[in-house]
Amino acid sequence: MSIVAEGYRQEATFLSTVDSPPRDYRSVALWSGITEAEWNDWRWQVANRITTVDQLAQVIPLTPAEVEDIRECLRTFRMAVTPYYAGLIDPLNPRCPVRMQAVPDRAEVDQGQEDLLDPLYEETDSPVPGITHRYPDRVLFIVTDQCSMYCRHCTRRRLAGQTDRAPTRAELNDRLDYVRQTTRVRDVVLSGGDALLVSDGLVEYLLKELRAISHVEIIRLATRTPVVLPQRITPDLCRLIGRHHPVYVNTHFNHPRELTPEAVAACERMADAGIPLGNQTVLLRGVNDCPVIMRRLVHGLLKARVRPYYLYQCDLSRGLQHFRTPTSRGVEIIEHLRGHTSGLAVPSYCIDGPGGVGKIPLGPQYVLAQSPERIVLRNYEGAVAAYREPSGNGPQGDVCPTCGERHEEPATGVAALLSGDALFLEPGNLERAARRRALR
Ligand SMILES: *Cc1c(COP(=O)(O)O)cnc(C)c1O
Ligand code: SF4
Repeated sequence: MSIVAEGYRQEATFLSTVDSPPRDYRSVALWSGITEAEWNDWRWQVANRITTVDQLAQVIPLTPAEVEDIRECLRTFRMAVTPYYAGLIDPLNPRCPVRMQAVPDRAEVDQGQEDLLDPLYEETDSPVPGITHRYPDRVLFIVTDQCSMYCRHCTRRRLAGQTDRAPTRAELNDRLDYVRQTTRVRDVVLSGGDALLVSDGLVEYLLKELRAISHVEIIRLATRTPVVLPQRITPDLCRLIGRHHPVYVNTHFNHPRELTPEAVAACERMADAGIPLGNQTVLLRGVNDCPVIMRRLVHGLLKARVRPYYLYQCDLSRGLQHFRTPTSRGVEIIEHLRGHTSGLAVPSYCIDGPGGVGKIPLGPQYVLAQSPERIVLRNYEGAVAAYREPSGNGPQGDVCPTCGERHEEPATGVAALLSGDALFLEPGNLERAARRRALR
């Protein structure tokens, strides 16, 4: 009970933040002389990012202590905020969710003992620099380490913004070669940094080269530009992407305040170009770890034709301790969404565990009991139902009764325990297995 009450109490304090309209940029002295054409030019936005405390102090009021803290943080982590995104900060709210994602916090320099440089082991699973090949049929392909806005919660902060240098053609060609040679790759995720913080020419080159590979079925672009630099989503770019379908775009909205008319229009331009849009949110303490905020976000996304795809548990990257919530908070948020609202609005809540295990879904438990004949389930209301299992569900023969074919490709992982000959799975370094081998 208290949990629900807390959610609603938070709504009371956050509503003003969500609803207080962003300022007209011309009311900020720093930008008062900027023309609309400049403001709407993404290259102007990138070239005029806020990177110093002095610039920031011209956009939002900072106390002397805050100035000191930000300077301290900047010794370890850099800052860059597009004028557009900085303009969304509520100057009167030190806990504004946009501000918390963009402005360094003293807590970032307090390293936790569980902090890791590369918590997802992306470099360990990297056959070629800039490629992470973790899953059987898809790869992560880093296009650049540059972003237009450096998120305070970035999981890839070991990489993002370290050089602001697009990789050379030769480096990109090595990555493309890996995809060409690895015929199991049917899905390529272009990411970064921000996959759209490169020229249209480079986007075109990569899409064209990938599209020419017969085993590549789909291409995905991972970009935060619709949120922090919607000016990047030009009609030309949308047309260019649309020429290489199927291309999916995954973006990164974390809070309903980010769903401005400009951001929504950027999403709509892409949707109109036939690009299916998904969103990946990071669960961040004090920003969106609230069922009410999250509901407003997912509903807002759907209205902008963006499908909430993942809700991520915050990773163990350096200096993110203050953003982390217990995983129970994420499970609780899903409990507040699933069944209560459109299934389309409910993202998968995932934790990307250390060691390269990849994304693992977490969520409420719905199975209460099972027998061979019945499964007893509870729904979101707490109503309980028994579903009768079919009878005569004997073991399958060599040929699948459904597709009529022999499943030639052997199942791997836990799926092999269900359909293959395997009876158990065990870690490679199991002491018990070593003893067993010694006995033989
Ligand atoms: C997230 C991720 C993917 C894509 O995973 P999906 O679950 O298919 O969205 C691929 N490779 C790596 C290394 C990833 O982290
Ligand atoms: S857009 Fe992504 S890669 Fe870039 S700083 Fe934000 S979280 Fe990191």
